[in-house]
Amino acid sequence: MKCDVITLFPEMVAPVLRQSILKRARERHLLDVRVVPLRDFATDKHHITDDMPYGGGPGMVLKPEPIFAALDRIKQERGGVRVIIPSPQGAIFNQGMAEVFSREERSLVFICGHYEGIDARVMQGIDHEEVSIGDYLLTGGEMAALIMIDASARLIPGVLGDSDSIEEESFASSLLEYPHYTRPREFRGMKVPDVLVSGNHRAIRDWRRGQSLLSTLYKRPDLLAHAILTNEDRQWLGQAISGMRKEGESVRWIS
Ligand code: SAM
Repeated sequence: MKCDVITLFPEMVAPVLRQSILKRARERHLLDVRVVPLRDFATDKHHITDDMPYGGGPGMVLKPEPIFAALDRIKQERGGVRVIIPSPQGAIFNQGMAEVFSREERSLVFICGHYEGIDARVMQGIDHEEVSIGDYLLTGGEMAALIMIDASARLIPGVLGDSDSIEEESFASSLLEYPHYTRPREFRGMKVPDVLVSGNHRAIRDWRRGQSLLSTLYKRPDLLAHAILTNEDRQWLGQAISGMRKEGESVRWIS
């Protein structure tokens, strides 16, 4: 996966890419991310990249010229690009988008807004997708870009050690993942479930599936509508729901 992050604040981005799994993915050439300092593309003496909004109002707006110049350079160097503008007005980022991004052949170019945002002619003149990471406001697009890069990069084959872990993880099949335990076997009176130390792989698999269904039922029942469920899963969920009904818990979200 190739990415270019155009930003006024390279140091908000670069250190994160030098840590942990993203660092290893870059070292192994599975992930190629370049941080592109917007200021380098401002041609005036003071390298000005922002200015006051026409019509007045608070905050500064990122100027269009350096952004277009940075993108032109990236296009020359990379060839194909897919431009993503992190924006609170965009479609909400999700696991499905992460999967699509992870398979993208073109470079994903993130144009990070800051302050009040970006001159509207950037959105007008550049073929792009606006993507939001949620219904709240950030100070800039840098962390949103990093979130999208992180979630996508970990889906590139080889980035995580064990590809099975991706298949079983939360959202992979519209279900949340089962709980994990490690040593010690007992901690402050809390024990690891016996089944996990039984050595019975089938029983472990069934327990994990059940826990995964239960977590989804309790925490994100909306996901169940999209989940691929077996007859056994449905039966199991039916029993769990009738158990909840008996205990007087709310099951309003079950259609
Ligand atoms: N004035 C803008 C508005 O009201 O829509 C908000 C600008 S915000 C303070 C500055 C920049 O942060 C945006 O240009 C965008 O790049 C980024 N940003 C803020 N919230 C975001 C979100 N939820 N998802 C993605 N990017 C976001």
